Amino acid sequence: MSENNADSGRPVLSLVVPMFNESDNVDHLFARLIPVLDGFGVTWEVVCVDDGSRDDTVAKVVAHHHKEPRIKLVELSRNFGKEKALSAGLHHTSGQAVAMIDADLQHPPELVGRMLELWREGYEMVIAVRSGREKESAVKRLSANLFYDLFAKVSEVRLPQGAGDFRLLDRKVVDVLNSMPEHTRFMKGLYAWVGFRQISIPYDVADRVAGQTKFNLFRLYRLAIDGITAFTSVPLKVWTFIGMLVAAFAMLYGLLFIVKTLILGIDVPGYPSLIVAVMFLSGVQLISLGVIGEYLGRVFSEVKHRPLYVVRNAYGCKRNIPVGE
Ligand code: UDP
Ligand code: MG
Repeated sequence: MSENNADSGRPVLSLVVPMFNESDNVDHLFARLIPVLDGFGVTWEVVCVDDGSRDDTVAKVVAHHHKEPRIKLVELSRNFGKEKALSAGLHHTSGQAVAMIDADLQHPPELVGRMLELWREGYEMVIAVRSGREKESAVKRLSANLFYDLFAKVSEVRLPQGAGDFRLLDRKVVDVLNSMPEHTRFMKGLYAWVGFRQISIPYDVADRVAGQTKFNLFRLYRLAIDGITAFTSVPLKVWTFIGMLVAAFAMLYGLLFIVKTLILGIDVPGYPSLIVAVMFLSGVQLISLGVIGEYLGRVFSEVKHRPLYVVRNAYGCKRNIPVGE
């Protein structure tokens, strides 16, 4: 917002672009991005984050960096996942407003202009919300809906449906995000958790220019579990309730047996129901153990205090996070 007192070297707009094996998209991306950014009439920088690509993404971006120094690159030492790549990008930006955009041009860069306008009007977070999910497979759509419904029920933060990482954040918001040390970085949840004045604008998702999505169903499942475990402890606590229910049921069932034995005498058959009950309860116990395991694993990774990511090389930018972190 305070665009006029821009200190020297601090661009108005920083763009963070996470990249994982996006070699075929790099040239298309900059060909489209740079004229659009120049058209905004503000100072800008693009901070690309290479998330351990195994193709020549890095070489291509570095070549662009040499031609156009406003294109910068943070090269991570391996694949850390999009959430951590975004965090790395946020740590290395210095703009007064920071937008995040995918490298595959599924997010129309032109929309960042509209985001800037709303930011100038005083919004601290402008969220692009995809208008439909028609382009995605039925399974992905169904699982996304399921996740959003479940998340809304168990967590206190609200995730707007269809909102992804494509959004613009004010420097204040970026500084808060940067000061959060947690390792389980479910960005969508963190954006919602920090609050601030937010507004949503709709957009149509384009097709990927080249390559394939990096998120298969298993990675999406992991992301969903990360999201839920990072934002609520309901799955941990629900077992007390389920345990009480099962115990109450067992007590009633036991009473029934006593009464039955008193009236009808000893009745030996009952093997199938015994097996079913034992198997059902073992299943329930294993699930609850698994849930504890999910949380414990995360506590374990938090207490180790390892860095979120490791930078191999940075081209044109440096880590820039608030004093004290
Ligand atoms: N990405 C990343 N690290 C990963 C997976 C993906 O940095 O481990 C980047 C990817 O290069 C792209 C963005 O995150 O710029 C979104 O990924 P993708 O297009 O595969 O996801 P989708 O659009 O299908 O949700
Ligand atoms: Mg994509």
